[in-house]
Amino acid sequence: MSVSEVATVHEDSAQLREVVATSCRILAAKGLVEGILGHVSARVAPDELVVRCRGEDEQGLALTPASDIWRLDFDGNPIDLPAGYSPPKELPIHTELLRQRPQFGAVIHAHPPAALLCGLAQLPPRAVFGAYNIPAMRMALDGVPVYPRSVLIRRPELAAEMLEAMGDRPVCVLRGHGITVAGETVAQAVVRALNLNALATVTLELARLGRAVPEIPATDVAELPDLGSAFNDEAVWRYHVAKVNGSPAPHLNS
Ligand SMILES: [Zn+2]
Repeated sequence: MSVSEVATVHEDSAQLREVVATSCRILAAKGLVEGILGHVSARVAPDELVVRCRGEDEQGLALTPASDIWRLDFDGNPIDLPAGYSPPKELPIHTELLRQRPQFGAVIHAHPPAALLCGLAQLPPRAVFGAYNIPAMRMALDGVPVYPRSVLIRRPELAAEMLEAMGDRPVCVLRGHGITVAGETVAQAVVRALNLNALATVTLELARLGRAVPEIPATDVAELPDLGSAFNDEAVWRYHVAKVNGSPAPHLNS
């Protein structure tokens, strides 16, 4: 099947660009990105995306306006990028992931400290908690792959290496660098990134405490419902939108 037959594509709209910009502000508010490093994208055609770019008035991800979100094709050619704006140097993370994984419609690349330290210390997240955060527990059960190189992913070949390490998982720790997270929607990708951060934070703090904590038993896992539904992701997303904007979130489908 060609990508165009199966790709998750969002309508390019002012609302979608606001969603991408808001996701950058949420990631900054939650400490997953700092300063001007990190970016979010959404597929708007089988081989085109909108992505957070840097303009001449760049002020960091915490203050990302929708006017920082611009459209490019998967070869990096600008569609509507104005003069003065630059796409991310690591654009291939987004373009190659969306090219090779048509089921995904959104990509996050961030540099969260907890995942960085887990990657450096070679601490694989384990399912040591349950009802505290069920989606994060399931992420640990499914495994969090690690791309072992600390390179800036500026070329498609390097992104292909990362994708090989990532396999069929929607998350990947880039050792000595950061994380890549994919979702069908921007909201789903953000919630997954936050869950990965929660998992890495607990993993790191337990290591700091020097405690060997057992994984929860299978009988407890069996009692935990699967909360990974789109409905749950949207609810969590709306909470974070409301919090970062200081007002109730509109109902969004992107
Ligand atoms: Zn990076």
